[in-house]
Formats: sequence, C-alpha cells, structure tokens
Amino acid sequence: MRVSRLMLVTLRDDPAEAEITSHKLLLRAGYMRRLAPGIFAYLPLLWRVLQKVSAIVREEMAAVDALETLLPQLQPADLWRRSGRWDGYTAGEGIMFHLVDRQERSLGLGPTHEEVVTELAADLLRSYRQLPVCLYQIQTKFRDEIRPRFGLMRGREFIMKDAYSFHADEACLRRTYAAMDGAYRRIFERCGLRAVAVEADSGAIGGSASQEFMVTAEAGEDLILASPDGRYAANQERAVSLPAAAVPLEVSTCQPLATPAQTSIDELCTAHGFDPTQTLKVLLLLARFAAAPPRGVLVCLRGDQQLNDVKLANAVTARCADAGALLEIVPLLADHLWDAVPFGFLGPHLEDPALRQGEARVAAAPLLRLADPSAADLEAFVCGANRSDEHLVGARWGELCPVPEVVDLRAAQPGDRCLHDPSQRLEAARGIEVGHIFQLGRKYSEALEARFTNEAGSEEPLWMGCYGIGVSRLAQAAVEQHHDADGIRWPVAIAPYTVIIVIASSQDPVQVALAEELYERLRLGGCDVLLDDRPERAGVKFKDADLIGIPWRLVVGRGAGERKVELVDRSGDTGKRELSADAALEHL
Ligand code: ATP
Ligand code: MG
Ligand code: MG
Ligand code: MG
Repeated sequence: MRVSRLMLVTLRDDPAEAEITSHKLLLRAGYMRRLAPGIFAYLPLLWRVLQKVSAIVREEMAAVDALETLLPQLQPADLWRRSGRWDGYTAGEGIMFHLVDRQERSLGLGPTHEEVVTELAADLLRSYRQLPVCLYQIQTKFRDEIRPRFGLMRGREFIMKDAYSFHADEACLRRTYAAMDGAYRRIFERCGLRAVAVEADSGAIGGSASQEFMVTAEAGEDLILASPDGRYAANQERAVSLPAAAVPLEVSTCQPLATPAQTSIDELCTAHGFDPTQTLKVLLLLARFAAAPPRGVLVCLRGDQQLNDVKLANAVTARCADAGALLEIVPLLADHLWDAVPFGFLGPHLEDPALRQGEARVAAAPLLRLADPSAADLEAFVCGANRSDEHLVGARWGELCPVPEVVDLRAAQPGDRCLHDPSQRLEAARGIEVGHIFQLGRKYSEALEARFTNEAGSEEPLWMGCYGIGVSRLAQAAVEQHHDADGIRWPVAIAPYTVIIVIASSQDPVQVALAEELYERLRLGGCDVLLDDRPERAGVKFKDADLIGIPWRLVVGRGAGERKVELVDRSGDTGKRELSADAALEHL
C-alpha cells in the first residue's frame, strides 16, 4: 500500500479525550476515531491489526477443534428471562442495551451469548455421540458500560472472540477448559503480549472455576496479587491471604496424635480438639505439613466455607505436588454444592494430565472413589468434614497435630502473607483483562433445558464452558506494552504492515525507482509492505513511520545510486544498518 493512498492522518499533539498512552497513540497515529463515548471507528490501519489478531485466534481455535460461527446480536428478552438474567442485565446498573420492536417485543443487543448458544444447543445437540462440541465467533459485543474509558479498553461496542463448549460430563469439560487455557497462552504469546493467568471471580456469567488472562501494564484497571515465586496469582476480587495476626506454626511443635482405627469424623475431630466445623485451621495445619510433606495426605473439606477451602486446598496441593507427595483432596460437600466446587482428587490416580502440572486446579471427582482400598496408602489423614462418614473407613492415620488458634482467611491485600508459604508476601501488579475462561457447569443448560441423551439412555443437562478474548482490547493492550517516546512498536505478528519503505527525497528519480522496485519485490514475496511516497520531508516521514509503529523501516536515500539502503528496526533491538538493497530484501 502507498502511504499517499492510506488516508493517514496523524496528530502532533495528544488529544484531550485520551488519558492513557495507548489510547493517545492510537488516536495520534490515525488508527481510530471516537464517535461517541465508548464507540469507535476502527480505521484501516487498526482493522489490519484486528484482522491479524483474529487470524491468530482462528488458528488456535481450530487447533482445539472449535468451530467458527456467527450468532445473532439482537436477542429476544424472553430468552434472557428464561435464564433469569434479563432484569439484572437491563435494570439499574445492568449493561445490556435494549429496545422494543414494532411488534412491542423487547430485545437486547448481545453483551455475551450464553443464552443464544444454549438455545441452539438445546435444538441441535441430542445425543452424547455428538459431544463434545465447541462453537466460537468473533463479533461486535454491546455493553452499556457505566464508565466507558481508555479508548478500546472499555468500549460500549467492542470486538470479542467468544467460544462455548458442550460436554456429556464434567471430566470432558475440564479437558476442554485445560485445552483452552493452552490455546489462550499461545494466542497471547503469538501476539507478542506478556500475559499472566490469574484466578478469577465468575461474576455475572456464573459457573465454578474461572481464570483471567492479564496483560501486565501500569494502566490496567485490575489489580493482580501474586506470590514472588509465581505459584499463586489471583485477581484482587478473588484473592485470599493469611490474616496478619496468625502466628506461623512450627512443624516441630506438632505432636503426633493417637491413631484410631475407625471412627466417625465428628468423633475424631472432637477427640483431638478440632471443631469439625473449623475446616480452615485443619487445612492451615496441613499447609505447614507441606513444608516437609508426609508421603500421603488426605484432606477432607467441608462445604460451608467453600471459597476459602478451595484456596487452601489449592495452595496445599501445589506444595505437596511439588514435593512429590501423594495427595488426595476429597471434598465432602452437600450435594447442592457440587456444582460450585472445582476440585476433587489430586494424586497419582488422576487420569487428567493437565492436573498434574502443579497447577493445583484440582478436578471434581465423585466422592465414592474414596472407598477405593488404595486409600490405605495414605499416611496422614486430616479432616474437617462431618458428612458421608462411611466413605472414610479404611483411611489410615499418621500424624495429626493440634492447631493452637482459629484462623480465618481474609480478602487479600498487597503485603499479606501467602497461603501456600507464609514467608512470602503478596505483591501487587496492575493488569488488563484480555481473556477470561469459565467452567459454566450446567447453569444455563438447566435453566434453558438443553438436554442430551447419555450413554445409558437417559436425559440430562449439557455441561458447558465459555471462553472470551477481548480482541479490540487486546490490540490496545499490545500498544500499552509496546511503545516508546516516538510512538507504537507493534509486535511483528500483529503489526498492520511489516515493512515501510521511506523515500528520503521523492524528487530524486533514482531513489524513487529503487524504492518502487523494492516495494514491488516485497509485495510479490508476500510481505505486508507500505511505500511512503508522499512529497514530504524525510524527517516528517520518519516521524510518522515511528509513530504508526511499523516494525521495519527501509530508507531509500542518497545511497540509492549504489543500491545502498538503510534498514531500521523499530523495536530498537538491532538499530540502524546500511546494506545493499538485495541484502535488505533477503533479511526481510
Ligand atoms: P471487565 O472486568 O474488564 O469489565 P468482563 O469481566 O466484564 O471485563 P467478560 O465478560 O469476561 O468481561 O468478557 C470477555 C472479555 O471481553 C474480557 O476478558 C475483556 O477482554 C473483553 N471485554 C469485556 N468488556 C469489554 C469492554 N467494555 N471493552 C472492551 N473489551 C471488553
Ligand atoms: Mg465488565
Ligand atoms: Mg472482569
Ligand atoms: Mg471477565
């Protein structure tokens, strides 16, 4: 493309409407214009960036067998009433744009597509033989954000990739969730972004396990709390820590307790001074154990404080898994809590390889597996539960230590002590949420009656997951991470063009001829190349090239007679080089 035909309008000064660097740069470099608060026109340069991001997303979605589709943006209110979300999304601080059509029917403009896709699944997916299925789309979403700001970061109309998966059972959902986690990491890496995965709150979308992907940047609206060793990271909305007042317990002060053969959990707890309702202190004790882990540990959790239990269990699991200890975590929960709790067993019996990578994102598994005689391998047995006692028969006792105080976890603050290792303190970093994956469970399939016939011939609701990436937010996040005082420095993979050829003096026919030749050859070679053929001073063209952030600048100037050109690397890594035109082409 010739820059003279590019409708390039760059601004010297920062526009008043922009607060953060990436927003200023995208406006100044002619990537977008604002029409109204949170509503932007994506100009041709930006559209190329968005297309490149989308192409990477499509490749990685195809790699996990997701099917591209395009779903309606106008969505009937009745559908949202059936899922129970219409009022929450439209009244008060609800973010759904909604309207009434000429037939007096209410409609909403899609902020997300769980309802629509579940309705489709109810119609199309009838048998376990069709499962699993994953559908995705790349589409404009509408959200009437309370505070639209920072350009594409928080738009009211923005581009999202959203995927939805359907499964016959929870284990399959977990496999797809793990595959998506991998796909997301590859997408962000390929886009040149430094992103971290953090534990997240499921918010209005709902479901059980959920994880966000954060691009770390000062301008981020989210606060991430992470341990220095990188083992724990969570959105502050979700993070927990040890309370400041709790005194760390020395393992050496623990006295082994007696080893009863068979007793109910309540009896055991009472006998050893545990309040069966105080799961947390028992788990905290186990966290200490984890410093010198026993060969096997069995933890039983109670459902009442499920969030904290999950946190602790995850922390303990991570420590024990690292030390190679056999660890089992068995939630003993009331049936109605099963859907909400994302963990179960972790140990050598686990089939799911994703769960062995020390992630401690433990799978849900039927409680009944505890009746397995292999439970006899367990050295230590700690519990804080009082349900389903019969399943515990056969577990062997090892060391069990009293805990001197009752501790309660708390919502975390920077500087708080980490659960998995009290010697570490939580560190804060700002992040931009570019992706979010959820295990939805059966929330939507139950509400919208999306059922399939299972292998045994009976009907049950589908298991679901959903997976979002803010495509337009991601593009701006890339600028936030990659820029300097002169402008944008696009990662090559998502740059609108890879090379810009600048003719230093467009009055010089020798320079023009060489530049045209190089332009043609690069184009034929499949390179995304710009030719700055404008009758401007060289300095102006260099400034624009830096501002719009094209990764490579090829300057055709005085050396053109000897077919000498200058190659400049916008990232600054290799600097300026003078070389022959052919060598430059070769390099590019
Ligand atoms: P946030 O917490 O920033 O409001 P969200 O949690 O509401 O985001 P999700 O429902 O998880 O967003 O949507 C999936 C992805 O869509 C987000 O991870 C984010 O990258 C993107 N996204 C959400 N809202 C916006 C918005 N207003 N503008 C641009 N991108 C957005
Ligand atoms: Mg939001
Ligand atoms: Mg969020
Ligand atoms: Mg989110």
